[in-house]
Amino acid sequence: MTQEFATDVLICGAGAAGLTLALELARRNISFRLIEKMDSPFPGSRGKGIQPRTQEIFEDLGILDRIVAAGGLYPPQREYQDDGGHTVTDVMEHHDPTPAEPYRIPLMVPQFLTESVMRERLVALGHRPEFGYELTGFEQNESGVTARIACKSGEEVIRVRYLIGADGGRSFVRHRLDVGFPGKTLGVRAIVADVMLTGLERDVWHRFSEGSMQRQMALCPLAGTEMFQLQAPIPLEGDVDLTAEGLTAMVAERTGRDDVLIQSVSWASAYTMNARLADRYRVGRVFLVGDAAHIHPPTGGQGLNTSVQDAYNLGWKLAAVANGAPEVLLDSYEAERRPIAASMLGLATRLLDAAKQGEMRRGREVHQLDIGYPESALAMEAPERSHGLLAGDRAPDAPLRGASGQPTRLFELFKGTHWTLLGHEVERGAVLPRPGLHIHTSGLRGDIVDEGGHLRDSYALAPGDWLLVRPDGYIGAIVASGETAALEAYLRNVGMGIQSR
Ligand SMILES: Cc1cc2nc3c(=O)[nH]c(=O)nc-3n(C[C@H](O)[C@H](O)[C@H](O)COP(=O)(O)OP(=O)(O)OC[C@H]3O[C@@H](n4cnc5c(N)ncnc54)[C@H](O)[C@@H]3O)c2cc1C
Repeated sequence: MTQEFATDVLICGAGAAGLTLALELARRNISFRLIEKMDSPFPGSRGKGIQPRTQEIFEDLGILDRIVAAGGLYPPQREYQDDGGHTVTDVMEHHDPTPAEPYRIPLMVPQFLTESVMRERLVALGHRPEFGYELTGFEQNESGVTARIACKSGEEVIRVRYLIGADGGRSFVRHRLDVGFPGKTLGVRAIVADVMLTGLERDVWHRFSEGSMQRQMALCPLAGTEMFQLQAPIPLEGDVDLTAEGLTAMVAERTGRDDVLIQSVSWASAYTMNARLADRYRVGRVFLVGDAAHIHPPTGGQGLNTSVQDAYNLGWKLAAVANGAPEVLLDSYEAERRPIAASMLGLATRLLDAAKQGEMRRGREVHQLDIGYPESALAMEAPERSHGLLAGDRAPDAPLRGASGQPTRLFELFKGTHWTLLGHEVERGAVLPRPGLHIHTSGLRGDIVDEGGHLRDSYALAPGDWLLVRPDGYIGAIVASGETAALEAYLRNVGMGIQSR
């Protein structure tokens, strides 16, 4: 008996994670609904650091230039000392782009602007979030999920193949699944507020009383806006006055300056920092992504980035399974992403401890460029490699030339929803073409020319090697010329077998 599904996927929550997943499904023509219980978009700046790896993902999603145009770079920080002097230092280490890593500096983009660019792209793809729609219950069986959604006009019940809980740290979906969320409360409570103010220049990130958890106060000019983001630790208990008057008084008390006046507050929140990780990311046909699966302290700007990357990992797999790939592919989502969040929690907590001492400088450890999935069931080498890039690693960029003479880049070849197979000095016909696979070869009669030797240097491919890159830009397989049968088996397992279409 065939089952009636209203749509393939229901995404609960239209924050950064839900929007990324929606973009991934939309560009693959998978049917979905994206529901959001709030009546209008989230207005806060909170997750404002866009790390280099996320910039690469935004390039693939076709929104990077808009994101860069909407925000800017982090300004240097000016640290005020008790004796009235100050020091100016860079918060972010500055590194020039390389052929393999085109983006190496975190961007500052207020979260509401990032999400607005994502929504605009989603509309261009023919979809939009449904605001004012709240998931209020669900049940699942082997074949699907029945979800209850409340909206102003009443309640609707829909049947979907998969439900995604992209519903933030207090996740209704996670609670309903009874998935544990162990971890700890970090003993730090803080405020974050987006404010208009007078009395401070916009060319530096102003930091007062670093090293004192009682008196710390940071005021960062928010790129792409006229506002500042105010951050300050506060006592664990008690009310805080988040009005313009209340915050002006707090600034005066902590900085000793009465010339800094908060004119208005567009969004403010007092929150307790936690580091928690969901026991499971998948229960049957229901998945958790983003803050629903892990919450971090904001130090190091990892939360939003990890959330986007969860969704980017899950999106292509959901689409592949909806199109007939083996269901087991979906197990790799938790296997790949949960260990990443576990180490991110450690990193953000260490950076929080450093921040308590006033140390704010950030380097490569927050860029997320070294994230990979070498332990994944989706990482295959035949034969096993002992040097250079390994299966599971992020596939680096490289400038190239097409055989026609036009400049291009590996990331241009990867861009889109397909897998990419690169053969180095191979016989092109050794792997048959199939839908969803783009094949390029270098060497004699190759369609790409590794003019600067960057591909060779980054990937260390031997003549006859085939390199398979996943839709999310990680290396799936590296096989030598005599091992194309292993490559065929791999492609079958991810839904690209020749007979499967
Ligand atoms: C106070 C604060 C400060 C932060 N500062 C930083 C920072 O400096 N840097 C950084 O990188 N990250 C920061 N973060 C984290 C970052 O904002 C999050 O990691 C990011 O928003 C996660 O995105 P998400 O889509 O997973 O969840 P969210 O952005 O929380 O989105 C979840 C959405 O689901 C909706 N929802 C919930 N329940 C339902 C339901 N039943 N039905 C329908 N919709 C529902 C919610 O309304 C919400 O819009 C901060 C977080 C907080 C709370």
